[in-house]
Amino acid sequence: MGRGAIRANERPAAIILTHGHFDHAGNALALATEWDVPTYAHEMELPYLTGRSDYPPQDPTVGGALAEMSRLFPHSGYDFGSRVRALPADGSLPGLPEWRYLHTPGHTAGHISLFRERDRVLIAADALATVNQESPVTLMTLKRELRLPPAPFTTDWNAARNSINTLASLRPSVIAAGHGLPISDNAASRLERFAFNFAPPAHGRYVLEPALTDGNGVVALPPPVADPVQKVIVGAAVALAGGFVLSQLIKRRRAIE
Ligand SMILES: [Zn+2]
Ligand SMILES: [Zn+2]
Repeated sequence: MGRGAIRANERPAAIILTHGHFDHAGNALALATEWDVPTYAHEMELPYLTGRSDYPPQDPTVGGALAEMSRLFPHSGYDFGSRVRALPADGSLPGLPEWRYLHTPGHTAGHISLFRERDRVLIAADALATVNQESPVTLMTLKRELRLPPAPFTTDWNAARNSINTLASLRPSVIAAGHGLPISDNAASRLERFAFNFAPPAHGRYVLEPALTDGNGVVALPPPVADPVQKVIVGAAVALAGGFVLSQLIKRRRAIE
C-alpha cells in the first residue's frame, strides 16, 4: 500500500471537496458518515451542499460528446447538513498542512484548486481538464492535453478564464485535473500558453452571460438556447407514444370485430 493510502482500520482527518458536482461529491456524505469526519468546501459552494440550491442546469448545446452525454446527468445539489463546513478563509486546508487552496470559480461558484509549494504540485480539479472531453476517441485514449473545464457544467466563462490565469501564475511542475491524467512534461510553460490562448466555447447558454449566484445559490440564469436534439427526442417520444396508442386502438378494434 502506498504512502498516504488509507488502511481498513484508519480514517482520514477530513474530506476536502473541490466542488459539489455529482462526479466529485456523490459518495462524500456516505464516507464522512462512515468515518465520522468533517467535510470542507468553499463558502460559495455551501448552498449546493446544504440543500439551499441546485446547480445551474447543464448546457447540452455547448457542443461535443460530453455535452450530449450531459443530458443524462443531474445538476441537483446535496444536503450534507452539519457534516459540511466552510474552509478557513486564509487558504489553509484542515489536515493538509503543506497544501493551500485557491478559489478558482467559473466551473462552479465555489470551486477550489489545491497547491503544494514544496514540489509545485497543482490539483486543478475542474478549473481545467487534461483530456479532450469533446471527443469520444480521446475520452477513451485519455491523451494528455490541457483543455477547458468540463464545458456543459461551466456556468461563468469569464471567471473560468481568470481562474486559469491564477493557476498559470503558480508555475506548477505537475497538473492533476478532475478529468484526464496528470501532466508533468513542461507543465508550467504549457499552462502559461494555454492561459494565453484561452478561448471559451463558440456558443452555448453561459458563453455570453454567466449564471448569477450568491451565498444562497442560483439568483438568475440566461435563457436556454434552442436545442434541436431535444426537439428530436421529444418528437421521437411523441411519435412512440402515438404509435403505442394507435396499436392499442387497432388491437381494440380487432377485439371488437
Ligand atoms: Zn465539475
Ligand atoms: Zn468533474
